[in-house]
Amino acid sequence: MATEFQVLLWGDDPVFLRAVAEEALDEVERIERMLSAFLPASDISDLNARASDEAVRAHPEVYALLKRAARITAETEGAFDVTAGPLLRCWGFRDDRGHLPDEAEVADALARVGMGHVLFSDRDRTVRFDTRGVCLDLGAIGKGYAVEQAVEIVREHGVGGGMIHGGTSTIYAIGAPPDRQAWPIGIANPLASDERLGVARLRDRALSTSSGRGRFVEAGGRRHGHILDPRTGFPAEEAVSAVAIGPSPTETDALSTAFAVLGREAVQRYCERHPEVGAILVHREGEAGSPQVSTCGIAAEEAFEQCLMAVG
Ligand code: AMP
Ligand code: MG
Repeated sequence: MATEFQVLLWGDDPVFLRAVAEEALDEVERIERMLSAFLPASDISDLNARASDEAVRAHPEVYALLKRAARITAETEGAFDVTAGPLLRCWGFRDDRGHLPDEAEVADALARVGMGHVLFSDRDRTVRFDTRGVCLDLGAIGKGYAVEQAVEIVREHGVGGGMIHGGTSTIYAIGAPPDRQAWPIGIANPLASDERLGVARLRDRALSTSSGRGRFVEAGGRRHGHILDPRTGFPAEEAVSAVAIGPSPTETDALSTAFAVLGREAVQRYCERHPEVGAILVHREGEAGSPQVSTCGIAAEEAFEQCLMAVG
């Protein structure tokens, strides 16, 4: 997944904890082999190669995850969409070379984007695309799913406290550190990497963060962030960064990407309908660029304490 995963566990048997952590990291590798669109042998690459021609029977886990992704697309007004693949290619994110597409190229890619092109058959667990060139990309949810499965393994072994993260963009806090109520997680200022905007306190909760600034390509003399609005075909420019807090790392991963696309009102709407989820949005105030931080939902208000401070 082009990033580093870390498993931090506490308890009094280091040999046992190390074995559990290794098993959790093996699980992350298994999920990468299944979901990566960059590995030709993955289940997702197989679907991308064949599902335009025939109904392809999917691995039960892949099928369930795609159905979950489709539900999140519906719940986020189309802002999160794993069929964004053709758009990512069109803007040059697939090979990181950057390309400024003209309107016809964007329209051509958009014609193959949308969960409506993915036809599910629950009876025989098959997936079929109704249009040639549909391309799934689980880049916005795969890390969260890997964290979720790794947490499952740690819990099965009865470890009561720890933290697992994928590239610091999706974190899950298991229990709390000794003598504490929760794990304190610093939230970086996307406009100044040596500053923190505040601290989120998590206990049995996931937190994900997305920012177009995290990865970008340069084309036409401008930087274009890697989070695209699947409805317009253009890079999301609403928030500088978005954080989602909730019970499931799979969901918060997908949601932080959606929240970076959606405007504040739509994020507020989502959090009202899903009280277990909260959001922190960072907007740029004026051209000077000081961060303007807002929270949506009780889950974020309870967990997040805003306190601008230097790192280190
Ligand atoms: P994240 O860092 O979790 O926000 O995921 C961003 C990655 O997901 C990008 O690098 C793309 O591979 C893919 N992506 C970009 N925009 C979207 C979107 N609107 N919905 C789903 N996946 C996206
Ligand atoms: Mg994401």
